[in-house]
Amino acid sequence: MRVPFSFLKEQFADPESIFERIRVFLKRCDFTLGQELQEFEKQYAASVGARFAIGVGSGTDALALSLKALGIGPGDEVIVPAHTFIATVGAVVQVGARPVFVDAGRDHLIDASKIAAALTSQTRALLPVHWAGAPAAMPEICKLAEAHGLVVVEDACQALGARINGQHVGTFGAAGAFSVHPLKPLHVWGDGGMIVTNDAALDEKLRLIRNHGMQGRDVVALYGVNSRFDNLQAIVGLEVIKTLDATIDKRISHARRYDKAFAAKGFAGVIEVPPRQGSHKHVVHLYIVTASRRDELLQFLKGQGIDAKVHYPIPQHLQPAAEVWGHKVGDFPMAEHLARNTITLPCHQYLSEEQIDYTISKVAEFYGL
Ligand SMILES: *Cc1c(COP(=O)(O)O)cnc(C)c1O
Repeated sequence: MRVPFSFLKEQFADPESIFERIRVFLKRCDFTLGQELQEFEKQYAASVGARFAIGVGSGTDALALSLKALGIGPGDEVIVPAHTFIATVGAVVQVGARPVFVDAGRDHLIDASKIAAALTSQTRALLPVHWAGAPAAMPEICKLAEAHGLVVVEDACQALGARINGQHVGTFGAAGAFSVHPLKPLHVWGDGGMIVTNDAALDEKLRLIRNHGMQGRDVVALYGVNSRFDNLQAIVGLEVIKTLDATIDKRISHARRYDKAFAAKGFAGVIEVPPRQGSHKHVVHLYIVTASRRDELLQFLKGQGIDAKVHYPIPQHLQPAAEVWGHKVGDFPMAEHLARNTITLPCHQYLSEEQIDYTISKVAEFYGL
């Protein structure tokens, strides 16, 4: 049996409805900031219960432009988790600010109890990440931000649809950044990003920034960039968004199957499922656990046709690019532990229960269970 990680060939096996929309679009040719993008932005905002959604060139730009619009730049510090994808950190560097790392907790998310100790007189923003589709501790993080006069930008690139007590991630802070990269929960045929906000002034500023700061054709209100969500990709997004709820439900159901199996006695001490909170809806962008003898397990599973992966083997503070900040091994022990021990098992919407069970049985076989 094969258990692939990617689902894109199945997702787009029948692209006729998309092609049909493209044919209509080609009669109008409003290639940039066109009708489809406006419709997609509307549906995207509605899907997370935000007032506004602004389409930009990538999830990374969604983060960077949010920071820029909130006035964060050179001389400022932004709190980020040490355990994340490079883009979280890169976006902070892109606006000229300094990323300040905070360790992860056992739930693989930024440890909110360690943020206060990382604050300095230069700290301007908190940038939590909803890692793997699990919500970070937003109530605590927002309380801290309020107490210290900081802004919150959420990296929700992996977490469209995730909620805390029914409230969508991306709507707790001043702005929430999402990605439509092909492997994210709602994806298109290339790059793109979405910023959601409830703040009308911020919405207006972001619309200017993504389009050279131009007010109409001739007047430049402020210096911006060219980072527009592609109208052609919005057509794909409008089709894929219809399947979002079903996709999330299927992934959650597979994740529960894994969780239940790994809760059995035999797996104690070899597989650790991160703690789940009842009030949190985890959309399972990635199904990640920690595993003893991780690298051997990874190779074994690959040999059995199971496309397991590692997200990611090097924590952000130990990346060569981060050398300028002088971190060393031991600075963020949980992030380092996770980098050494996490494994991602296939968990997408086109897998069958048989494929999940096969994966579980091969993990058990590896540990001699
Ligand atoms: C994918 C991702 C991003 C960046 O999104 P792009 O669209 O690839 O630029 C940022 N943060 C996290 C956590 C991501 O997973």
